[in-house]
Amino acid sequence: MSIHPSKSVFISGSSRGIGRACALCLAGHGYDIVLHGKSPSQALEQTIADVKAMGVNVRALSFDVCDREAARQALLKDIEENGMYWGIVANAGLSRDVTFAGMEPQAWDSVLKTNLDGFYNVVQPLVMPMVHTRRGGRIVVIASISGVMGNRGQVNYSAAKAGLIGAAKALALELASRKITVNAVAPGLIETDMVDESVTERALPFIPMKRVGKPEEVAATVGFLISDDAAYITRSVIEIDGGLHG
Ligand code: NDP
Repeated sequence: MSIHPSKSVFISGSSRGIGRACALCLAGHGYDIVLHGKSPSQALEQTIADVKAMGVNVRALSFDVCDREAARQALLKDIEENGMYWGIVANAGLSRDVTFAGMEPQAWDSVLKTNLDGFYNVVQPLVMPMVHTRRGGRIVVIASISGVMGNRGQVNYSAAKAGLIGAAKALALELASRKITVNAVAPGLIETDMVDESVTERALPFIPMKRVGKPEEVAATVGFLISDDAAYITRSVIEIDGGLHG
């Protein structure tokens, strides 16, 4: 894969988990990295240090992706000072699992706001600046297999992730002529803070590969989608789920 020392990638929710793994993978390919967390944290500091140790430029932004104005201001200030990103990985997300019958409004709202509105709040302000660079670009949306197949106890999360897949496919159409690709990645069960042991135990019998995935296994696909080698892949959903959906 080609190395691009002068290109930067913004990854929302990259203090931990899949976002952090994406940052490390992309740093390994030579991209400058713009990390992000909801608020400054030890995890974010550690990721900054780990990316820096890989010899690329790194900086970090902190804002709540649910806060439309805060997201817009922080992103526009950053690109004004440092230039527009080559790639955006819309990764920040959360789940609040409960059966629909017992789902309180807060569980619905927080999941839709963080995962789906968060995508709008981060990606929309950056679209025209990306177009204006006239060099193309890459947008990768971290959805979920739950948005493809639906998952018990995740009506909120499945709705948000299915919404993200629709959004990514529609945006791909709008940006294709500008050489900007938009793809979604749909991970299955990945070993991060989001997933607790009881969920893993219940899911394992249904996963053909009989194990959960590693954040690095999602990051490798994201790294490819951001690269020049993926220039002709757009409007796709790539499943990384050990065969769970099939
Ligand atoms: P983690 O809980 O490990 O990390 C979540 C990241 O998102 C953190 O960096 C967190 O920042 C950030 N974040 C959460 N809420 C907000 C917010 N309101 N504003 C800003 N940042 C926020 O999760 P994963 O790495 O597991 O998940 C990453 C993505 O992958 C999510 O979109 C998730 O839905 C998706 N996914 C995960 C799967 C899994 O099995 N783990 C499976 C399928 C999809 P901070 O540290 O500051 O809180």
